[in-house]
Order: sequence, then C-alpha cells, then structure tokens
Amino acid sequence: MAKYEIHFFCDECGETHPLGIGLELDDGPAEKTSLGDAYQGRAIPANIGIFMGNRTRCPNTGRMTTQKDNNQIFLVPIGWRGSLGLTAIERLHRGSAGRVRSPLQ
Ligand SMILES: [Zn+2]
Repeated sequence: MAKYEIHFFCDECGETHPLGIGLELDDGPAEKTSLGDAYQGRAIPANIGIFMGNRTRCPNTGRMTTQKDNNQIFLVPIGWRGSLGLTAIERLHRGSAGRVRSPLQ
C-alpha cells in the first residue's frame, strides 16, 4: 500500500491545489499522475471517485470551484517532491490544503 493525496488543476487561477485528502492505493503510480492516465481503460476506485466533483475553495481567489475532468485531477505519492521542493505532506502542514473534509478522516 502506498499513500497518496489528491490534487486538482484549478480553473479559477490556473494552478494545481491539494484537496487535503489522503488515501492508500494498492496499485497507484510512482509519481504524480493524472487519474485519466493512471486508470486508462480501468475503473477508477470508489475511494477516489467519491471525491470527484467535490466543490472546494480556491486558496488564491477564494471562489468555489469543481474539477470533474479525470485528466485535471492528480494522484500525488506522499513523499514525492514537487516544484517547490516540498513533499505533499509538508505542504499540507503549511496549511495550503483546501477546506474540504474527507469523510474518511
Ligand atoms: Zn486556484
């Protein structure tokens, strides 16, 4: 089992934000991968699907937004270092996560 968090491309500001949601997957990707690529020709697991279409607030504009395009929603392995040089979990601790609460927490 590897741990992941879900990020989405924000139509409001054009940046990618973490949803603040973590989950575990048996067969997830080794690096940041869109759902469309990771599950091409396969069913998206239910524990990811329940988050798709969630309304969340853009931290840059303060406006509510949704993202339903599988190619604009990303699985990010926790421990993966993005362009800021921070791991996903470090960014969560910095408070940049969205305000959506996971029903799994
Ligand atoms: Zn945004």
